[in-house]
Amino acid sequence: MSLNNLAAKTKQIIAATPWRALGENICSQNTKTGWSINFNITQTCHPTKMCSEYCYGAMSDRPITWKNSITKYVRNYNLFRKTDPQLITNKIYKEYIARHMTFLRWNGVGDLFPESTDVMNRLVTQHPDAVVWCSTRNVGEVRKCSREATNLYLMFSLDNTLQSRQRKAIMDAIDHPRVYYSFLRTEENDDCMGARIVFNLQQKKDILPFDDERTVCPVDSDRMPVKGACKECRRCFNSTTLEDIKHESQM
Ligand code: SF4
Repeated sequence: MSLNNLAAKTKQIIAATPWRALGENICSQNTKTGWSINFNITQTCHPTKMCSEYCYGAMSDRPITWKNSITKYVRNYNLFRKTDPQLITNKIYKEYIARHMTFLRWNGVGDLFPESTDVMNRLVTQHPDAVVWCSTRNVGEVRKCSREATNLYLMFSLDNTLQSRQRKAIMDAIDHPRVYYSFLRTEENDDCMGARIVFNLQQKKDILPFDDERTVCPVDSDRMPVKGACKECRRCFNSTTLEDIKHESQM
């Protein structure tokens, strides 16, 4: 399914979805990353050319694009836009404890928007035991994220849509102590620009290199079973991922 087709499908779902109250569960579960909070792509993302071609959130053979899933993402978006952020924060933390989570992926699909950033900041600040791994491409929102919360890991996603020079400008503009970079590698000779996590495009996993086991995601290169992988690997929400960056910048 293309992002255009996904947008058309989502438009119908948005029209048919009432604003939701706080009662339902906010978090979802998936095989690789475990528990996550998801939002509707077409309301929150600003896709790059590579996203438009390869976004896993638009793959029609995955549960992520089933009607029930998209409806939940739309309902989450509605909830965050209309409800007291402290009540949402309390609800998410309750789910975190009740599900025995050891980390929570923020934006399994979707991206940050102001109300979402507000709730995430409250969660990590009020509950230092709640580890949050947030994936984003939104420079403006990521700059509003807590700089002090050591339980927050901000993964800023890059790909080769932009030239290296433009990517460097983004990295310089963000300048945030909790941010590291991931890169979606689609070509063998892509410049990954020192990204801490490299995701080899799954459709080309047989030809893209597994050239650095410290950075290349083991799942997308078939080095690790998908089920429960992030809980075991933990590289994307590990303090050493950020410490490596600090050491390099001091050299
Ligand atoms: S590098 Fe590890 S933690 Fe990150 S997405 Fe891959 S399996 Fe999950």
